[in-house]
Amino acid sequence: MPSERITAGEVFFPAEEVKHLVSVLRRKPGDVVWAVDGKGGAFEVSLSVVTRREVRGKILRSEANPGEPGLSVTLAAGLIKGGRFDWLVEKAVELGASRIIPFLSLGSVAGKPAAGKTERWRKLALAAMKQCGRSVWPEVSAAVPLEEVVLSRADYGLAIAAHAGPDCVPLADAVRSTGSPVQNALLVVGPEGGFFPAEIGAFRQAGFAIASLGPRRLRAETAAMALLAQVFLLTGEGG
Ligand code: SAH
Repeated sequence: MPSERITAGEVFFPAEEVKHLVSVLRRKPGDVVWAVDGKGGAFEVSLSVVTRREVRGKILRSEANPGEPGLSVTLAAGLIKGGRFDWLVEKAVELGASRIIPFLSLGSVAGKPAAGKTERWRKLALAAMKQCGRSVWPEVSAAVPLEEVVLSRADYGLAIAAHAGPDCVPLADAVRSTGSPVQNALLVVGPEGGFFPAEIGAFRQAGFAIASLGPRRLRAETAAMALLAQVFLLTGEGG
């Protein structure tokens, strides 16, 4: 919920939440609910007013960042066709990604996303955040060319590109290679057509580890989930 709706000691629920709280959850005055601001703030609220026009209540206590992992992970994922990217967004949020960057690259089969897609993915991320008990609304960027992802390497302590080809290191080695604990990580998974040799070269040059997820060729969305889950496990930062 937008933070301007959370004032000293009180929460005013926005219209779409009012509808949900009244018509679906059938909340009554005196009921206690949790509200999150999408920026890490979570508030236990005792409802004082519950009508079809307005729901508000008093904050009983607040928590910072419940449900959030200790490592901020950006998942850059090649655009994939059909509903598969929708699925990827929802599951990446559940597994703890802080940001999702869709990209287009040489192996892309999907074209530039249709107007409104990014907005749709943002809404899916919001719904997934609420459903799984997170307090930060992960950002979904507009689609970028892969070069932009490669150029952002310096913004991250750890950067890994998943590749099902030769000369890859096991993922555990890629995670360990950083030595010191990192605060953020950039994980990259290719589209249906995979990464081309020139792209792998660009990753290497920019200082990405090129990591294997094992001997089977995974679909892009499966690879993204395996990568996320294992990086949280290997760093011990799943939260
Ligand atoms: N036809 C492609 C396969 C693409 S799979 C090829 O032969 O390269 C889509 C993406 O999932 C890949 O670009 C890679 O990022 C990831 N991926 C799939 N299986 C993987 C594996 N075993 N190890 C690492 N990454 C994998």
